[in-house]
Amino acid sequence: MLRSRCRLHLAQRCPRCRHTARHNRPSRDRFLCRRCGLAGPADVVAGVNVRDRARSAWVLADAPVPDRHPLPIR
Ligand SMILES: [Zn+2]
Repeated sequence: MLRSRCRLHLAQRCPRCRHTARHNRPSRDRFLCRRCGLAGPADVVAGVNVRDRARSAWVLADAPVPDRHPLPIR
């Protein structure tokens, strides 16, 4: 339950301006940020949000140098 709500939240969050709203998803497959206008496939946007969250979680867990990532992410 909690996990699926989190996923839904990520799918409604703009990776550019971080505006989060249900209206950012005009349809199931599309994302359109109502604040900055960023648009794209909803699953790709959700994936970007998951990646960003994973990065920030890593920084919180082990952060000798906050601006650097120990592993190249490509
Ligand atoms: Zn936006």
